[in-house]
Amino acid sequence: MEVIKLENITKNFGSNEVLQQINLTVNKSEVVVIMGPSGSGKSTLLRCMTFLEEPNSGIVRIGQTEMKAGEKMNGERKRLIRSIRQNTGFVFQQFNLFPHKTAIENVMEGPLIIKKMPKEKAKAFAYSLLEKVGLSDRCDHYPSQLSGGQQQRVAIARALSMEPMVMLYDEPTSALDPELVREVLQVMKDLAKEGMTMVVVTHEMGFAREVADRVLFMADGVIVEEGTSDQIFSAPKEERTKRFLRDVK
Ligand code: ADP
Ligand code: MG
Repeated sequence: MEVIKLENITKNFGSNEVLQQINLTVNKSEVVVIMGPSGSGKSTLLRCMTFLEEPNSGIVRIGQTEMKAGEKMNGERKRLIRSIRQNTGFVFQQFNLFPHKTAIENVMEGPLIIKKMPKEKAKAFAYSLLEKVGLSDRCDHYPSQLSGGQQQRVAIARALSMEPMVMLYDEPTSALDPELVREVLQVMKDLAKEGMTMVVVTHEMGFAREVADRVLFMADGVIVEEGTSDQIFSAPKEERTKRFLRDVK
């Protein structure tokens, strides 16, 4: 079953063609890792999937919700965008937690406000998600009282609280001190094992080798090549991929 389908997505910022006719299908329970040099369009691609950036043209489908890019905003489009956002959990490099809310309040927010869940139920659900990411003993801590790795795990729990069909991660461990990277990757691995569909922009090759069903290599707004992690890391075909891998190793 297809969870994400992108057809001919293009995105320009002025004369800068950041995405050029991107086609991508992600199936249920698939883990897709996207790599590529800085500025190649990886973040823009994730943002276009959720209409945090509006693509200039193309079609985005998330689950059953399909939207054509580049049309005038109206009530119907707003409804579709809301539906796409609710079905995608987005985890950013910067954790973006509400600083004046505790860990559990951060996780409860979506279920309470958007899903209109009763408070006690939302609290129990948020607790179960914090337990899942190994933070049941940090529920009442504020973000400033948590390490970067713990904050990112709260951010993952918060994204999960909307029960998304797919999780999108944009360099989720890049802002972390090296010793905190592993705990975040472990949570992501556990979710993958449970069958969560995921698109992960990361340069963590170990994670890609262990978890990715497919690795995409992006450069200059195009998907240059894709394959299993073995194919991409051990036998890259394209010169740009080879050069990139030489540089990150
Ligand atoms: P990556 O995530 O692979 O590093 P990005 O998607 O962030 O790449 O950026 C791709 C290109 O788009 C870069 O040239 C960047 O400068 C440009 N870009 C990204 N966001 C914007 C924006 N909001 N306005 C103008 N240019 C942007
Ligand atoms: Mg980026």
